[in-house]
Amino acid sequence: MDHPLPTATPDAPIFDPRAFRLTALETELTARAREFGARVLAPRAARWDREASFPVDNYRDMHAAGWLGICIPGMEGGLGADFRAYCLAAAEFGRFCGATALTWNMHVCSTLWTGLLTDDLEMDEAMRAAHQANRAIHYRRILADGAIYSQPFSEGGAAAAGAVAFGTTARRVEGGFLVNGKKIFASLSGHANQYGVLCTDVTDGTASRRNTLYLAVPADAPGVSVAGEWDPLGMRGTVSRNLLFQDVLVPESAALMPPGLYFQAAMRWPHMFLTLSPTYMGLAQAAFDFTVRYLRGEQPGTPPVKRRMYPTKQIAVAEMRVMLEQTKALWFQAISEAGPDPSKESMLRALAAQNTVMENANAIATKAVRTCGGQAMLKSLPLERIYRDSRCGSLMLPWTAELCVDRIGRDTLYERGETDQ
Ligand SMILES: Cc1cc2nc3c(=O)[nH]c(=O)nc-3n(C[C@H](O)[C@H](O)[C@H](O)COP(=O)(O)OP(=O)(O)OC[C@H]3O[C@@H](n4cnc5c(N)ncnc54)[C@H](O)[C@@H]3O)c2cc1C
Repeated sequence: MDHPLPTATPDAPIFDPRAFRLTALETELTARAREFGARVLAPRAARWDREASFPVDNYRDMHAAGWLGICIPGMEGGLGADFRAYCLAAAEFGRFCGATALTWNMHVCSTLWTGLLTDDLEMDEAMRAAHQANRAIHYRRILADGAIYSQPFSEGGAAAAGAVAFGTTARRVEGGFLVNGKKIFASLSGHANQYGVLCTDVTDGTASRRNTLYLAVPADAPGVSVAGEWDPLGMRGTVSRNLLFQDVLVPESAALMPPGLYFQAAMRWPHMFLTLSPTYMGLAQAAFDFTVRYLRGEQPGTPPVKRRMYPTKQIAVAEMRVMLEQTKALWFQAISEAGPDPSKESMLRALAAQNTVMENANAIATKAVRTCGGQAMLKSLPLERIYRDSRCGSLMLPWTAELCVDRIGRDTLYERGETDQ
């Protein structure tokens, strides 16, 4: 006897609002993100990938739709998404254009970290008032002018992994800071209006991680330049070239967080580093959706040939679904726990979630290519791009897949301060 199963609905929400008990805001934002992604992002995605060019048109439309202010508090004119609401919406973006979702994440972090996250941190009232007045300048630029912020942290050394102080420096001078240094893999290079640079305040002559500053450097400030080629395997539309800063003078208001607050955030709000994962959660879903559509003979751009009747295909899809559900469940739990001062268990779960999303997105995409076959990996179809984009997830510092494994193993076997001496 046949047991009819629900029809495959590839464009259903990644996280069904009822099943995952989403809030009203999450339900609304994810529905809007999915509609926007299908209508605006998907048709253009192949172009940014082919040209390795920045999705300028997407950002214009994202500004008009309010997406640039998703994490700006509602009282300050934004959409008021909290950490989980943002992650869920960003995963929906990731289904349709990985490069747009990933660069949007760099931008959004400049508002999430200075907003909701900083509100959870300790500072005296005067510092808090000054910070709120200062961030309002940046929020206004974003909401009114469509200003785009980026997040160039990586330098090619151990700093982006959090092991040493950033080599890019800021020195206090009359009226502001003088910035010098170099960033690599700086997504949005040449396209962001402000580069949210992590650098070390070396005014007192010492280079300590505690003295990390998070400064918004205007892209058109004298001394800022973009260098190097960008012709990578995947995530080509991120345009992650090198940024050079030579005696760049920025005002006091460039400080996106008060002194010492970035270090406090990294210690006390570590889920902040999980924000690179939503894009890849979306890519994992996209690879799975493609496979289902393709095997059912419903993938646009392909003949209506069904391949779903072969047991090997059914097994492959089942295995992909198991992997996808495992990934979703762990990730959803981790983003639900995000907040200040997580327990050790919560922290280890966050690292496991990051590792799982980044590794499984590519594993699911790899399996999708193998299962669908040769005609499915032509550049005229999105799977090939999803496969290449998904390969980049495990490389993203500070929580690369390797570094997650490293920390999970060590921190499971050792309590803080324990040694074998
Ligand atoms: C598409 C894309 C976009 C990006 N966009 C940005 C961006 O906007 N801003 C930004 O700051 N960066 C960005 N990055 C950079 C990214 O976070 C890495 O810095 C980048 O991939 C370069 O890494 P690397 O090879 O120099 O790493 P390396 O530091 O050389 O490390 C190589 C590998 O060794 C491991 N490793 C590193 N340090 C340690 C350690 N202390 N202990 C043990 N193992 C370690 C890691 O697993 C790492 O993958 C982007 C990267 C990609 C792929």
